[in-house]
Amino acid sequence: MAAAIAAYYGTRDPFGRAGDFTTAPEISQAFGECLGLWAAVTWELMGRPDPVVLAEFGPGRGTLMADALRAIDQVAAPFRAALRVHLVETSPVLRAAQQARLGDTVSGWHADARALPPGHALILANEFLDALPIRQFVRRGDAWMERFVAAGSFVEAPAEAPPPLPLAAPEGAVQEVSEAAQLLVAGLGARLAAEGGAALLLDYGPAEGGFGDSLQAVRGHASADPLTPGGGADLTAHVDFAAIAVAARAGGAAVHGPLPQGVFLQRLGLMSRAAILARSAPRNAGLVLSGAERLVAPEGMGRLFKALCLCHCGLATPPGFDPA
Ligand code: SAH
Repeated sequence: MAAAIAAYYGTRDPFGRAGDFTTAPEISQAFGECLGLWAAVTWELMGRPDPVVLAEFGPGRGTLMADALRAIDQVAAPFRAALRVHLVETSPVLRAAQQARLGDTVSGWHADARALPPGHALILANEFLDALPIRQFVRRGDAWMERFVAAGSFVEAPAEAPPPLPLAAPEGAVQEVSEAAQLLVAGLGARLAAEGGAALLLDYGPAEGGFGDSLQAVRGHASADPLTPGGGADLTAHVDFAAIAVAARAGGAAVHGPLPQGVFLQRLGLMSRAAILARSAPRNAGLVLSGAERLVAPEGMGRLFKALCLCHCGLATPPGFDPA
């Protein structure tokens, strides 16, 4: 799965109508603007450290960061002066798109989150964790088998060095484990605990884990065969937010959420921002409002997508995560 994802992102810009799928920052500029202002307010809560790393994991086309920086420029000049933009991205094609979009505002690109410069950090990641590889285990009799891919087909074989798995499960149950995401988040939690800061992770998946096969492939905005060769389709799996929260706490961070994305974005004022944008461009008003609506509506991306915040234990609750 890791090889297929690397081949997929390494060779294309998959976003938008002509591509395979679309994401929140590509749907509404208000998404990146709200996240930028979330970072600005959280920076105030951190005591205005200067310098501060503003990092994004898996920035795609750089749209979220561009929208965030524009909003920060307009209303949070001291934060803008203190921040240094760092991007964690493995795809050469998307690095070039980010360079074209963000130019000199980027202080550095990194292939791995562990290579980010030390110090206080604010980290944003939208639809990043779902692109990390998972392992799937299938219950057969009273044992767990692991599902592998061999010669273009799924095969089951006795699990090799399995992570902790539930002791009991119904016949045929599928348990997914994203060791890659858990390792990354444990490292991120340890970094935030040691150096200060906060990370905001937005992605799709249930708040509570459970059995189920969520591996999916998408191509041309339709579902595709996950065994499409050569990274020809985007492969993702639901993010297990409960497991992510456990990993972050094990690393030493405090965790807020997960909250449904719709609740979180509405608390940040996304719909008010969209209304202002619609008034300032009446000809596009319908599109602007329906895009924002899609991000918050439960039947759109508002419920399945979640927002999770990891932060230093001494930090006050960041915006949007206060109990209502
Ligand atoms: N955040 C963007 C893009 C999401 S797609 C948006 O919302 O539009 C996933 C992104 O993560 C892509 O930029 C992809 O190239 C990047 N990516 C995938 N696996 C990665 C890895 N292991 N390390 C760093 N970046 C990765």
